[in-house]
Amino acid sequence: MDHFDYRDGLLHAENVPVTAIAEAVGTPVYIYSRATLERHAQVFKAALAKLPRTHIAFAIKANPNIAVLKVLAKQGFGADVVSGGEIARALAAGMKAEDIVFSGVGKTRAELHYGLDVGIGQFNLELEEEGAVLAEMAHGMGKTASAVLRVNPDVDAGTHAKISTGKSENKFGVPISEARAIFDRLSGQPGLNLRGIACHIGSQLFDLGPLEAAYRRIGDLVAELRAAGHSIDRVDLGGGLGVPYERAKVPPSPAEYGEMVERVTKDWDVTLMFEPGRVIVGNAGVLLTRVIWVKPGVVHPYVIVDAAMNDLARPAMYDAWHDFEAVAPTGEKMVANIAGPVCETGDTFAMNRSIDVVKAGDLGVFRTAGAYGATMASTYNSRALVPEVMVDGDKFAVVADRIAPEAIIAAERVPDWLQD
Ligand SMILES: *Cc1c(COP(=O)(O)O)cnc(C)c1O
Repeated sequence: MDHFDYRDGLLHAENVPVTAIAEAVGTPVYIYSRATLERHAQVFKAALAKLPRTHIAFAIKANPNIAVLKVLAKQGFGADVVSGGEIARALAAGMKAEDIVFSGVGKTRAELHYGLDVGIGQFNLELEEEGAVLAEMAHGMGKTASAVLRVNPDVDAGTHAKISTGKSENKFGVPISEARAIFDRLSGQPGLNLRGIACHIGSQLFDLGPLEAAYRRIGDLVAELRAAGHSIDRVDLGGGLGVPYERAKVPPSPAEYGEMVERVTKDWDVTLMFEPGRVIVGNAGVLLTRVIWVKPGVVHPYVIVDAAMNDLARPAMYDAWHDFEAVAPTGEKMVANIAGPVCETGDTFAMNRSIDVVKAGDLGVFRTAGAYGATMASTYNSRALVPEVMVDGDKFAVVADRIAPEAIIAAERVPDWLQD
């Protein structure tokens, strides 16, 4: 459920007509609803309420805007980060270092050092050597790094290939069959508290089956490690729950997920760590755009909008679907293609789609754009970096400025030897 609804025929974000945002900020612009973010956080927490010990780390790569993080920090969420920059963001949003989980297959030594320095709560190791480097570095700093080992459970998450992470050929984690030997070699090293296991098999999951299969393998591994004398007090179950990009396709609910986790983990006696991203922020955002032209096409007309693949990359990158709706629909429908102004055929949001009738100058939104939207934006084709707005009841605020091409040009240099 979200708080983007039509009132008197006009799309509102909470109590704000989105036309007011277009007028004040221009388009394209991302709009987030604070009430929706809070609702999703609360639904997720409620789904885990029966589990004895839990920790929720929002995967901030899904939406790293500082204001969004602030809302989630107030809900008690920590952060799952994948770079030093994301550590800085989590801290800037007021999240506690001990509530930060550091994931990522290529943490640099500088990033590991930064993480140790600020005292983050958990390093998710992706390979044995990373654990050895971390231990030595922490020991040298007079610290002990809290860490878990990310394993690759070799299950097919059944999602898009580019967001599948838990098959043996993917770059993430160590093969589950090697985990025990790595534990034997790494644990007991000074500077390292290797205390558990992590897994994350993919994103936009629509089937709990592969997740359950992965978790069962993790449960077996926990038993095996304990039998070998290792103490295990944490298991990080990752993120990955899907969201309904198409209204008619309904993913498993957080409650159903929570019930599955409860059933599978009931004897584990660990703190369960969660890393939800998309499911928290996806439906809490829309991308507001204005129609520039409706261009006749050979089969269907092209609705050319002022948002493009540089603002919302998912359709070009993953063939992803985003529902498109007119801000002031007439009730009539047409079949059209929707594309942006960027000079790439891939800059297409939809083909042969039945949509609200729109004409040049009309406003529309791409729905479910709160996750992996603004964060992937670029300035390709020398377009401005897309701004972000947050709505809270009757009020709204710009939470990320539109960065004009002039500001980007100002950061470029022509060397002396090229001046005439
Ligand atoms: C991306 C990612 C997540 C979040 O995935 P969602 O599908 O957005 O929930 C969680 N954990 C790790 C390690 C990730 O890379």
